Amino acid sequence: MDLYEHQARELFEEHGIVVPRAEVTDSPGRAREIARALGGRAVVKAQVKTGGRGKAGGVRLAADPAAAEEAARRILGMDIKGHPVDTVMLAEPVDIEREFYVSYVLDRSAGRFLAIASAAGGTEIEQVAAERPEAVARIPVDPAVGVHTAMAVRIADAAGLPPQTVDVLVRLWKVLVREDALLVEVNPLVRTAQGRIVALDGKVTLDDNARFRRSRWGDERAASADPLEARAAAKGLNYVRLDGEVGVIGNGAGLVMSTLDVVAGCGARPANFLDIGGGASARVMADGLSVVLSDPAVKSVLVNVFGGITACDAVADGIVGALDEVRLTKPLVVRLDGNNAARGRALLDARAHPLVEQVTTMDGAARRAARLATAA
Ligand code: GDP
Ligand code: MN
Repeated sequence: MDLYEHQARELFEEHGIVVPRAEVTDSPGRAREIARALGGRAVVKAQVKTGGRGKAGGVRLAADPAAAEEAARRILGMDIKGHPVDTVMLAEPVDIEREFYVSYVLDRSAGRFLAIASAAGGTEIEQVAAERPEAVARIPVDPAVGVHTAMAVRIADAAGLPPQTVDVLVRLWKVLVREDALLVEVNPLVRTAQGRIVALDGKVTLDDNARFRRSRWGDERAASADPLEARAAAKGLNYVRLDGEVGVIGNGAGLVMSTLDVVAGCGARPANFLDIGGGASARVMADGLSVVLSDPAVKSVLVNVFGGITACDAVADGIVGALDEVRLTKPLVVRLDGNNAARGRALLDARAHPLVEQVTTMDGAARRAARLATAA
């Protein structure tokens, strides 16, 4: 998950990196007040999760509070590379003497991090990297060793950064490690006319696998995703929406993946991936069914379960319980095999729901669900 600039700024500040005073708002009127509180002048910056804001007109220097209000009015509602701007950050302007570029990024193929740094930072860094690659230093960082002073000196030397940046390089590494980030980038890191080193812009990408211990930024992926995916995520379901018409529910990611293939092989398209995992209680089954059935594109649902540690009769119990809770509106094809399959099938037969039918093989069940979906 990417953070907004103002969130990255907050993390930098917490780790002792100097950043300009700043505040966020979605109102031009409030922007005027913030500018006044910052001393009159302000840099007004679009808060969007994409780069190149400056070039797109999303960063404006305002000479007084009225100009800040006007700048905010212009920037709010802009669209920057498909990202609508609904908040701006107002920052105290900094007198820039030099602009540098520094970042740490995970290098997956090498199993290391990479420190990337340049004395030619600023909005043209991509062009610099393309035209003068020697102006951009790339130094591997062993994650087990990290960036301490000696390493930071090496990075600064290689990039031609002044010695005052060494402290920032060490602190930035701490941001990366302590916040579970895959990328931290400061462009520009500036030296002011007064000789201070200030992080003027920040980009941080957090590792989603560490989300469980980094809840402070909220679950933005769920909030911004497809509404059904958001609902599923809120219920703790492993659901991915696809664009077909056969809803798919199974236990175990591998089984669900192959079910998607088999459905596709039968000439239909899967509407989703949903792995209900090992539990398969009535609760999970009801939640899963209700999410899958809420997709208007779904014409039939295929439940494919191979009983291993979770026995089929427990899953059948879950399905029967779910049928009491969720109104079934589309045909449901169930395939139960493996541990206690016969008992599971008997339980479902006993429920005798008119829209539920059982097929004993995976291929047969997929064919049936595909037929029901394409005939509907
Ligand atoms: P980006 O275009 O999305 O990377 O946005 P930045 O926050 O990096 O701003 C782009 C450029 O605006 C920077 O490289 C600076 O040249 C300029 N800029 C941003 N903040 C200030 C500031 O406080 N003072 C001055 N003089 N220029 C700034
Ligand atoms: Mn920038």
